[in-house]
Order: sequence, then structure tokens, then C-alpha cells
Amino acid sequence: MSKSLSGQNFAGKTALITGSTSGIGLAYAKALAGEGANVVINGFGDADAIEKERAGLEALSGAKALYSGHDLTRTDQIEAMMQEAADAFGGVDILINNAGMQHVAPVEEFPVDKWNLIIALNLNSAFHTSRLAIPYMKRKKWGRIIQTASAHSLTASPYKSAYVTAKHGLAGFTKTLALELATFGITANCISPGYVWTPLVENQIPDTMKARGMTREQVMNDVLLAGQPTKQFVTVEQVASMALYLCSDAAANITGANMSIDGGWTAQ
Ligand code: NAD
Repeated sequence: MSKSLSGQNFAGKTALITGSTSGIGLAYAKALAGEGANVVINGFGDADAIEKERAGLEALSGAKALYSGHDLTRTDQIEAMMQEAADAFGGVDILINNAGMQHVAPVEEFPVDKWNLIIALNLNSAFHTSRLAIPYMKRKKWGRIIQTASAHSLTASPYKSAYVTAKHGLAGFTKTLALELATFGITANCISPGYVWTPLVENQIPDTMKARGMTREQVMNDVLLAGQPTKQFVTVEQVASMALYLCSDAAANITGANMSIDGGWTAQ
């Protein structure tokens, strides 16, 4: 990760990244730990693999890395995670709300429990982490709140009603945060990726090849990247670089923004 991009070291600061045991969240954790921040990682997965990642994060700069494996669809568990972070580090300076899930179905068939889970994780959890993080940030007169929103915070696709609703809500919530926190040295912004190359995306390819009788290239270009003009996947490192920039002093006047990294998707 480029140190020149943020131009600063985050030693002494603590970053909590939700949903950071894989994909984009893990890339944020690596980027911030690499520049000296203590990190709190969260999410599900194999215990040994998570411990290996946690130890690897500490090795990057010598700062601390804490794993908090709470289920963020539940308010009491979000409160427990934020308390663990406060007990370990005093509070959270950089909050990245990244945990998210997807379900694809027509509205009239959309399972009610899936709708509720997606709204709880992709939207409500950001409200709870933010309300619990803000008092410490205000005391420190510095803070950064970043949401991994999505191109779907700006535009819709069929069959993704809960996801699109949650991500649009997250974008609106972030604007409100920005206005409320503007005079406290705290910024709040969305990063909105298009298709990012994560295991989540990669794992869809073999099934889609079989289902549609397509080659790997056809699936990537004509299905996954159909709406992404560059015909390139965004990388997790590119998304993490944007987060580093938003955390830097150079970005102190960027607040309430929705930063697209989508290969031109939402320009159409
Ligand atoms: P991912 O599946 O690799 O990561 C999701 C993370 O969330 C994992 O660490 C997982 O364990 C965690 N998680 C899932 N349910 C949880 C729960 N109940 N409580 C706590 N943690 C939970 O996916 P990703 O692609 O890295 O996605 C991360 C974020 O980026 C999501 O908000 C997603 O909507 C957004 N996003 C992804 C893409 C993409 O193309 N991959 C594009 C735009 C936005």
C-alpha cells in the first residue's frame, strides 16, 4: 500500500473495520495497520485463518490488532464489539462500516427474514457503530467515518431490493452524519465501488459458466462487467487506497461525499 497516498502515519489511532475477515474489509485493515494504526477486525470465518490474519496485521507495523467476532445484525452484539474496542484502545478514531450481505430475488418473493437481515447488517449496524463511536471522536476533536456503500447506493438493479434500499439509506445517513459532525473535525463519507474482485465474486464464475454455457471470459465481460465500462474489476487495494486518502489530513474538507470507484458504471 502506498504510503505517499495518505502521506501520514496513523500511529496512536485506532481503526475499527466491520466485516474485515475477508475481501474489501481485510484490505482496509491491512492498509491502515500498514500505516501504524491499531485495528479492530470483525467478521466470520475459520478461527485459525482469522488468527493468522490478525497476527499478520500486527506484524505490519507493530501496532495492535484485535479480533471481535460479533454478529452485527444484532444490536447487543454491536454494543459488545464497541465496548471491546473501547476497553482495549479507549475508543475508535476511524470507523469503517463495511460488513454487508446480498440476496437476489423478486420483491414479491423476497424472503422477509433476508430483507430484515440485510437492512440490519448493511444499514442499521452503521447507525449503531456510529452512535457509539461519535462521543469519543468528539472528545478527540478528530474522527473519520467511512461506509463501504456501493454503486447500488446511487443506482438500482432488479432483484436486489433490500441491498439497494440499504445502500441508498447508508448514503443518506452519511450525509446527515457529515452535517452534524462538520464542526468537530470528524468527516463522514461513502466509498461506492462497482464490481470488486473478491472471493465472493470469483466464486460465482464457475456456476454462471455452467448455467449459461459461457466461457470464463464471457461471464466476466458479458455478465459481471456488463455495466462496468472499463471492463475491469475494481481491486480491493484500490478501494483501500481511497480509504487511506479519506483518513488523511489532505481530505479534512471532504465530508458528506460519495466517492465512486466503479469503472464508469454510474456515469451512464
Ligand atoms: P466479503 O463477503 O468478502 O466480506 C463480507 C464481510 O462481512 C466478511 O468479513 C464477513 O464475515 C462479514 N460479515 C457477514 N455477515 C456478518 C455479520 N452478520 N456480522 C459481522 N460480519 C459479517 O464481501 P466484500 O465483497 O468484501 O464486501 C464488503 C462490503 O463491500 C459489503 O458491504 C459489500 O456490500 C460492499 N461492496 C462489495 C462489492 C463487490 O463487488 N465485492 C461492490 C460494492 C460494494
